[in-house]
Amino acid sequence: MSRVYNFSAGPAVLPEEVLREAAEEMMDYKGSGMSVMEMSHRSKVYDTIIKEAEADLRDLMNIPDNYKVLFLQGGASQQFAMIPMNLMKNKKAAYIVTGQWAKKAWKEAQIYGDAVAVASSEDKTFSYIPDCSDLDIPEDADYVYICENNTIYGTKYKELPNTKGHILVADVSSCFLSEPVDVTKYGIIYGGVQKNIGPAGVVIVIIREDLITEDTLPGTPTMLKYKTHADADSLYNTPPAYGIYVCGKVFKWLKKMGGLSVMKERNEEKAKILYDFLDESKLFKGTVVKEDRSLMNVPFVTGSDELDAKFVAEAKAAGFENLKGHRSVGGMRASIYNAMPKEGVEKLVAFMREFEKNNA
Ligand SMILES: *Cc1c(COP(=O)(O)O)cnc(C)c1O
Repeated sequence: MSRVYNFSAGPAVLPEEVLREAAEEMMDYKGSGMSVMEMSHRSKVYDTIIKEAEADLRDLMNIPDNYKVLFLQGGASQQFAMIPMNLMKNKKAAYIVTGQWAKKAWKEAQIYGDAVAVASSEDKTFSYIPDCSDLDIPEDADYVYICENNTIYGTKYKELPNTKGHILVADVSSCFLSEPVDVTKYGIIYGGVQKNIGPAGVVIVIIREDLITEDTLPGTPTMLKYKTHADADSLYNTPPAYGIYVCGKVFKWLKKMGGLSVMKERNEEKAKILYDFLDESKLFKGTVVKEDRSLMNVPFVTGSDELDAKFVAEAKAAGFENLKGHRSVGGMRASIYNAMPKEGVEKLVAFMREFEKNNA
């Protein structure tokens, strides 16, 4: 068996320990005589799996009792519609457009009401986070929407926007569990787990209880009401059962590692290795402003499409996979999520140094 260093933006690297455990339990989960994939989601043994997963997540993020944790499907993209359908009581919302995912969410919300872009960084290809300290947010906006870490462009809010008392909704897909957060500052925190937590197919929504109501937009399908899933503890219909089980293992791994403040330190340390090199390199350059750099997704370029392609190909041959930038921006991107060991980043930088020397 040989494993590569996988820098994919998602689906992405998972802790080896978690994969090994899942493999060991594949044929017979804890004496049940079956795989978690094969068991009823209403069985006692599965009930323990999903309840423990939720309890561990609550513990890790210090989620207050007045927030519900929902395990849903449909990807982060389905939330682009579900959020306005459930929250747009006044048919108005404020969106901060900092990248492709925020823009998609903003466009989707326009189907349901007046979604106003109150700030954007599109003028400079989303290479920064706009000043959000004094935005012109409509008085009657139902919520303010952000994408907290921009997976494609590699920017991250270092400070949450001043929402002027409005509910904050955040897509945290690519920074989920990468550092401690103050859940009370948000109305909804959500993300697809395939970036920094688990296998594709699960979306976690952490939502303040008062935002879960019957009062959704007319025509909202049962499956797209938060209330449906909240009332049934995420078991209204068959949940993505195996995915939730793997997420649960990752939560336990994170707790064992020391929790989210330890992960933050580790992530800062890893990112610094790469950013420091980009800052001193004569060949490679980071593409976003320093103050807004993401700890998770690090885009960079050489300035030549040809050299970029050569780098990606040679890196792949050397065991560094998925370094090609998103198809919409080109260049390179190293995603260095929680499960990427420090050694992976160090080896990548050593490889980049060597490449620079050979292509000077
Ligand atoms: C990947 C990603 C999405 C889209 O996720 P899907 O689960 O594929 O719908 C949305 N937002 C962010 C920030 C992402 O990184």
